[in-house]
Amino acid sequence: MMNIICSDLEGVFIPEIWINVAEKTGIEELKLTTRDIPDYNVLMKKRLGILDAHGLKLADITDVIDTMDPMSGAPEFVAWMRDKAQLIILSDTFEQFAGPFMRKLGMPTLFCHQLKIDTEGRVTDYCLRQQDQKKHAVAALKGLNYHVTAFGDSYNDVTMLKEADQGFLFRPPANVIEEFPQFPVTTNYEELKPLIAASLATGADR
Ligand SMILES: [Mg+2]
Repeated sequence: MMNIICSDLEGVFIPEIWINVAEKTGIEELKLTTRDIPDYNVLMKKRLGILDAHGLKLADITDVIDTMDPMSGAPEFVAWMRDKAQLIILSDTFEQFAGPFMRKLGMPTLFCHQLKIDTEGRVTDYCLRQQDQKKHAVAALKGLNYHVTAFGDSYNDVTMLKEADQGFLFRPPANVIEEFPQFPVTTNYEELKPLIAASLATGADR
């Protein structure tokens, strides 16, 4: 087996966590995502500042996450991929947020980041496992002789898609489509399946 699939998480299998937190808490500013602010560090600093200003703790966010479900068809699509190749989800979310979703998705492998929480349960900082981890993970897997098929929905996936042997966009915003016309665009799992299958066939032939 020379194939591995790397996928994004938010906007692909699950809704955007911060947008849901914004809706449930009524704090509009938390709706900003990597679609609006491409620099992840700038975005995260802003989010932590907003949480602090409103006195929101980790538990307030995980309460919202507990009410969220994966996107329709996502668990079945994850199972479809894992029947054909190994799957690694490369996400810019945090271990503290992702746990409940991983159970709902059948416990695929997840590489993501960590939040720093103080003794009162406040989010004080975040710890990136590595800068640009999506790209580095794909490069490392290629170094292990894997043919890498990757897909994601936004700016923070682009370096991963460029590094992969084949990269696809899934429901991207218009500005990402315009800026990166080299990646095929898909709008649902049924459209994505044949692209993934063709890429896996290329990998199997190598
Ligand atoms: Mg995403």
